[in-house]
Amino acid sequence: MTSAATSAAASGITRKSLQTTALLHRTPWVPPVATGGEGIYITLEDGRKVLDAVGGAAVACIGASSAHVKQAIKEQLDRLPYVYSMQLSNEPAEKLAKILTAGENNAFELVAFVSGGSEAMEGAIKLAKQYYEEIGQPQRKHFISRQLSYHGNTVSTLALAYHPARRAPYEAILDHDNFHHVSPAFAKRFQRSDETEEQYVLRLQKELDDKFLALGPDTVIGFCAETVGGATTGACPAPKGYFKAMKEVCDKHGALLILDEVMTGIGRMGTLHAWESYGDGIAPDIQAVAKGLSAGYAPIGAVLMSKKIVDGIRGKSGFWKHGHTYQSHPLACAAAVAVQEVIESENLLENCRDQGAYLAKLLNERLRGPNALAAPYTFDIRGGGLLCGIEFDFDSPARKVDLKGKAFAMEVQARALENNLIIMGMVGGANLEGNKGDHLLLSPAYNITKEEVEKLVDILVGSIEQVLKENFV
Ligand code: PLP
Repeated sequence: MTSAATSAAASGITRKSLQTTALLHRTPWVPPVATGGEGIYITLEDGRKVLDAVGGAAVACIGASSAHVKQAIKEQLDRLPYVYSMQLSNEPAEKLAKILTAGENNAFELVAFVSGGSEAMEGAIKLAKQYYEEIGQPQRKHFISRQLSYHGNTVSTLALAYHPARRAPYEAILDHDNFHHVSPAFAKRFQRSDETEEQYVLRLQKELDDKFLALGPDTVIGFCAETVGGATTGACPAPKGYFKAMKEVCDKHGALLILDEVMTGIGRMGTLHAWESYGDGIAPDIQAVAKGLSAGYAPIGAVLMSKKIVDGIRGKSGFWKHGHTYQSHPLACAAAVAVQEVIESENLLENCRDQGAYLAKLLNERLRGPNALAAPYTFDIRGGGLLCGIEFDFDSPARKVDLKGKAFAMEVQARALENNLIIMGMVGGANLEGNKGDHLLLSPAYNITKEEVEKLVDILVGSIEQVLKENFV
């Protein structure tokens, strides 16, 4: 437990604001209160400044100090705080939609703005279903997603994804009839030693095709995946050719490809859309984005629709039967426009690629180099852009580490916070045989500097080594 958490627990603090990890305030972990932020640093109630290496949950992608974004929110607040999107559009929403549909790949025709990632994925599910209703294929009702996936915390998105820990209390009310799962794309764990990457992709393609055939190909709405694995597989990119292979199956059966880029879209991988980072031109029919859109300055998510989807509905009812009260919220859209302007004017996609490569280089040297204490236990360092996963494995024959049932990543997360660094520890989010899922996630702001990357790595490696030394047998 960190010193801040210890003191909070010891002083018997009971808070009225329920934080995810402090359920009922009875757990030993009471998160410290954040009181301020500057750049990529967060100030805590005890005055400490901690380097946020994960941007909250891959959200705060330009840090906390953008005068441009703050000014844009204030100006919009003075001009017009709210209109109802069923009655009126608003200027920032129109501007933001233009930015998101303007990409050189020209993949999207229209955008609907909601309040976050789960709402965007709920919207994607409903939009896909309505599309087939309107084009005269109402028998389509099945979604195929992947094990080891996360698409949100609402009832439908929990059913769509496969994150056993988060599903567990709700299994009985999840829809098991219409949501189905195939294997994840996770080569490091699941590619067989006797197959090439190409053969692995072909095996996954066949599995998807078999699933279509088993369900009845003309009853499937689409295949849905995170473009790069996030909350379960920890920054796991798909193998080469994977999305091309999956899209071929969808096309063959007249179904849709739906990509969830809530965590990885809007610059995180060093490209506006994460699918662009694969360089194979495979674009989805529907896409969800959220976190990086407003960098945490306001809650917002978006459903991006291809021309095919829009034409299908335009040609019939012309009306997406969906809508939330806070859809296209002017303040959130104004914040998001300003964030996208900062990303563009400060060349942050390039910085994301450069600093991401530097971060990966340093981590490989310091965790896997010849003299690295952590080398025997560092199973994988993966990701792209400024999304990085570090997975540990303690089954190696090297010097034994006895964690006494505790998860290494969570111990490192606590130690790092004591050392003034915020990282994300994740454990067995969605266990499959052979996946222990003991990993750390790093997703710092796109404007992180070289010196900040070095500091991040220093503290992180120091924290990892501390926990190892404390638990060597
Ligand atoms: N989809 C993915 C891939 C995510 O990573 C997340 C959140 O982490 C969500 C959906 C849900 O987004 P939100 O927490 O904004 O509802």
